[in-house]
Amino acid sequence: MLSVKNLAAFYGESNILNNVTIEVAAGNVVCLLGRNGVGKSTFLKSLMGLVNTPKGSIIFNGREIINDATYRRARQGIGYVPQGRDIFPQLTVYENLLLGLEMTGSKGQVSDRIFTLFPILKTMLNRKGGDLSGGQQQQLAIARALATNPKLLILDEPTEGIQPSVIKDIGRVIKQLRQEGNITILIVEQYLEFIMAVADYYYVMEKGQIVAEGLTKDS
Ligand code: ATP
Ligand code: MG
Repeated sequence: MLSVKNLAAFYGESNILNNVTIEVAAGNVVCLLGRNGVGKSTFLKSLMGLVNTPKGSIIFNGREIINDATYRRARQGIGYVPQGRDIFPQLTVYENLLLGLEMTGSKGQVSDRIFTLFPILKTMLNRKGGDLSGGQQQQLAIARALATNPKLLILDEPTEGIQPSVIKDIGRVIKQLRQEGNITILIVEQYLEFIMAVADYYYVMEKGQIVAEGLTKDS
């Protein structure tokens, strides 16, 4: 479903990624791990067309999207939650959830399904995004990405700075989504316990290259 081959990525003249090859099979949960600064977030950004990628290929659902002039359309179907808290503090929880749906007119997709996955959000619809705790904001960011019904969900360090009970909640959501089976999930993650709990397969990155990969033993 997602196949990346020999990808190179640059910020200006700086070469960040080299020959990165990753496969994410349909319905699987795949984790990418590695030390700070090795290029994990850059890799996710390159999938979203946010970084200069002069070499390699990215095939999403059978379609080459790396240099797609209409990449916005090509990337419809990908939900991306960047590293850090991507929440608009002045908007309510409900308004934050609607972002991205307004344009397609499909507000109904902020549905019971989202609130079944994230019950905490249903109790907070009128609160300002900025008033939520870090863990609640992270759940809101993931819920928002899911509200567009993506085929591929990309999460950049969803457990960063989040307390263990909320990490468990997020892990439960990912397992639930995997069981439902209509989505493929790629996660950049450092927290090993979380990776073992949710992932089918992992890749390890060092200095912009993949240096190890394998099945996670619990899956
Ligand atoms: P972390 O675990 O800290 O999130 P990471 O593996 O996600 O790290 P990246 O954010 O991809 O690492 O950064 C990879 C390299 O690219 C780092 O050396 C970083 O300094 C550099 N870098 C990141 N963003 C930019 C940018 N916008 N312009 C130039 N260099 C950048
Ligand atoms: Mg990062």
